[in-house]
Amino acid sequence: KQKQFQDELANPCETLDGHKTQLFLNAGLLSGLADDVVQGADGIGLYRTEILFMLHQRFPSEQEQIKVYRQVLDAAGTRPVVMRTLDVGGDKPLPYFPINEDNPFLGWRGIRLSLDHPELLLMQLRAMIQAGGVGTQLQILLPMVSNLDEIDQAVGYLEQAYQELKSECDAKIVKPSIGIMLEVPALLYQLDDVATRVDFVSVGSNDLTQYLLAVDRNNPNVSALFDSYHPGILRALKRALDDCRRLGLDISICGELAGEPLGALLLIAMGYDKLSMNHASLGKINYLLRRVQRDELRVLLDTVLRLPNGQQVRAKLIEFLTQQE
Ligand code: PEP
Ligand code: MG
Repeated sequence: KQKQFQDELANPCETLDGHKTQLFLNAGLLSGLADDVVQGADGIGLYRTEILFMLHQRFPSEQEQIKVYRQVLDAAGTRPVVMRTLDVGGDKPLPYFPINEDNPFLGWRGIRLSLDHPELLLMQLRAMIQAGGVGTQLQILLPMVSNLDEIDQAVGYLEQAYQELKSECDAKIVKPSIGIMLEVPALLYQLDDVATRVDFVSVGSNDLTQYLLAVDRNNPNVSALFDSYHPGILRALKRALDDCRRLGLDISICGELAGEPLGALLLIAMGYDKLSMNHASLGKINYLLRRVQRDELRVLLDTVLRLPNGQQVRAKLIEFLTQQE
């Protein structure tokens, strides 16, 4: 079945009424970047660098990082690669950098940790810039941003890394574009200010769901409450898309929802046209989107957003799919 879906990727992802969607790959391990895997995607929509850090016994050096990032960029060729800066903390511990907190998901995570250790952030940015260059499309993504100051500081470090390398290296240095994960709810209300600072946003629907619903994404006691189909979450996702379109801010989504068949239907109904997902989902989503009418989904979305809970949202979508046969 997986092989059959993989073959689907030879077809451009377009709905029956001609609406195109770009499908990107989420990756963290080099082994997940085999040629046939990456060839089936429009690029790498999320490369989680923390996996590299978690596999080491200490912080990887600049040279070690360059080597790995270059392999990631090589795998994608001329297609875009969204490379995320270190996103440890929360559910992703680094054995050689222990953090003990009562509330790790509300604690020292992602960009917060990087900005408190600028030497680590600068090294990572320098490694990424050196791995990129002419002929690559490198986009740097900042995780867990919760305020505009963090963006300004990170952009400052990117500029510093770029200027340093320009004066140090003979090779042609290219400044990558920069964007943020949209996963802390407050930023949903500041997209106009975000738009003047970055080139793109990528919605992290896993953390956004966790923070909007106040439900730990990994706690089995409350897993039934963790629901990205909660109409409140769906309205937030729709609002983010509408705001970004109005502001001319490039938006994509890389949380698990994008790789789920029902989630992908909702997202393209909202207007998302860049979905990033695990390899196992790529073929399935391509197959599905080529068999639906986007206009019908848009009508369905109006109904769905007014349903009282996620369970009914899913039931409605399944009913829609059943009628397609
Ligand atoms: C997310 O939060 O949706 C996301 C893609 O990031 P991660 O799952 O790595 O936290
Ligand atoms: Mg996240």
